[in-house]
Amino acid sequence: MPELPEVEALRRALDEPVRAFPVEQAGPAHVATLKTYDPPLSALEGRRLAGAERRAKRLLFPTEDGELVLLIHLMSAGRLRYLGAGADGPKTPAFRLRFEGGGQLVLTEGGPKKRAGVWLLSPEAVAAELEHLGPEALGLGAERLGEILADQPRRLHSLLRDQRVIAGIGRAWANEILHEAQLSPFAPAQGLSTGQVRTLAEAIDSELARGLELRERGAKDAKVYRVHDKLGEPCFVCGTPIARVDFDEHTIYYCPSCQTGGRRLTPYWGFKGRGWDEVAMTSRRKTRRR
Ligand SMILES: [Zn+2]
Repeated sequence: MPELPEVEALRRALDEPVRAFPVEQAGPAHVATLKTYDPPLSALEGRRLAGAERRAKRLLFPTEDGELVLLIHLMSAGRLRYLGAGADGPKTPAFRLRFEGGGQLVLTEGGPKKRAGVWLLSPEAVAAELEHLGPEALGLGAERLGEILADQPRRLHSLLRDQRVIAGIGRAWANEILHEAQLSPFAPAQGLSTGQVRTLAEAIDSELARGLELRERGAKDAKVYRVHDKLGEPCFVCGTPIARVDFDEHTIYYCPSCQTGGRRLTPYWGFKGRGWDEVAMTSRRKTRRR
């Protein structure tokens, strides 16, 4: 799923082309992709977009007259592109915006599941739609992060991915950030020292900035990620094979030497108040017996 660096790189690339010409034709949109019907998409026709904005993992395209906002969430498989005049577009896009001058903004989504979404809203409705989001991850700073962590009896990996708490980080960048900060994905947020909070705040900024820079240059996942999706590959810091812990819905990648003092994490960890060592030992035995 595209996260803050990917969506921000896309925003920067789209900002100029989308405001070059007024919208000529809005739609078609797949019935599962378009989440709103009032106002209709055709309300965009003849209006000019003011550019591309971003909030968390969402892209926002406000109209120049300030009356409407087109909101797009790519989810895991959505892909949004601007195609210049004369370029061949897909036959059945999930959503398309055609501009005077011939350019088009095209949303496609691979696979049978249509999860990406397009909303056409008033500025007030957009504010309500985004109200639940926490502060932007990039530039959060140690002080604000410290306040957030102190308030959350949670494990770091799950906390970093919670958009209501901090906005813009998902599975991949949570893996990269925690490795950079040399913190366990399962470390309790409230147990961090002041120094560790500062290290984590710095890692959030440096990793998201690194990701953004690489994505702006068009780098692919294999080059951008150093820990995420690298099971068994040597850690770029210490050479230990990267390990993985699987949950029903997602997977965490980490370096056992850099992040967990050599311990292997298991999904059983942390049940019902049992301590780190106790559960880590029990789970390790369970795993071995299988
Ligand atoms: Zn390592």
